[in-house]
Amino acid sequence: MTEPTFEYPVELAPVDITPYRAGNTGVDYVTTFDSGVPGYHVMITAVTHGNELCGAITLDHFFKNDVRPIAGKITFAFANYQAYQSFDAADPSASRFIDEDMNRVWAADVLNGERDTVETRRARDLAPILDQADMLLDIHSMQHPTPALMLSGALAKGQQLAKDLAMPEYVVADEGHAAGKRMRDYGGFGDPMSEKNALLLEAGQHWEKNSRAVSIDTALRFLKLFGAIDMDTLMADHLALPDDQCLIEVTHPVTITAEKFRWEQTYTGFECIEKAGTLLGWNDDEAVRTPYDDCILIMPNRRLHKGQTAVRLGKRIN
Ligand SMILES: [Zn+2]
Repeated sequence: MTEPTFEYPVELAPVDITPYRAGNTGVDYVTTFDSGVPGYHVMITAVTHGNELCGAITLDHFFKNDVRPIAGKITFAFANYQAYQSFDAADPSASRFIDEDMNRVWAADVLNGERDTVETRRARDLAPILDQADMLLDIHSMQHPTPALMLSGALAKGQQLAKDLAMPEYVVADEGHAAGKRMRDYGGFGDPMSEKNALLLEAGQHWEKNSRAVSIDTALRFLKLFGAIDMDTLMADHLALPDDQCLIEVTHPVTITAEKFRWEQTYTGFECIEKAGTLLGWNDDEAVRTPYDDCILIMPNRRLHKGQTAVRLGKRIN
């Protein structure tokens, strides 16, 4: 499946992840390092969407620099490695997935059901690993070049974790998508009573060089926050923390309910629409308008297929 690239330059090159196929967990492309000392089991996942390079580049960098836990365990996983390995710089959007979006298959009824795709099979292999992890950082990137943001999920514990991490500047609290559950909301990660917690990083535009730096820095801070590494690890890769974080609460996603959806104009994300009732687009002939003043558009989608999220609408909380 192809999404329009808007001709953004491809500044990053995919790295070779085949050295990490065997891993040591019995699941391909999943490696766990155990410090032998009690502590959190921290998991970092890359290429849940195969066309999002910065996560793979980050894990490759960590493997090559021997990033290992000083307490607890660290797991590195290349989630949709099959989609990633189909990456073609001449058609860089085509490798997002093989059969279906791997970040929409994490509801129990899908995992335990009959649906048989490359992505559901892989999710069923990864689920027992995710069940063992205490803390998850799932690294993604975006279609348009907007500031990096952290998707904290809808629960207070996710927002608190994003705040504790203090990186990046923008935190977006959201429920996810009508099309299916995300990995970051799977199992205990999406249960307010569970001690488990997860964040989803959108490190920048898919092919943008800076997404590498944001991804590496945020992942290092995530490992440090849970005592898995100390701050000296890969010191040169740290960026300055933003002065303040800005929290945007998603009030609802706009789901494409018609066969045809079109935008009234081109949006790339983070537009703040001043007036309630402003026309955004059309679900067939049904107008989609902003429901309140100062409505922020989060990650407007160019892949306009029925059942998908067209955009998320949010309010700035602080
Ligand atoms: Zn993604």
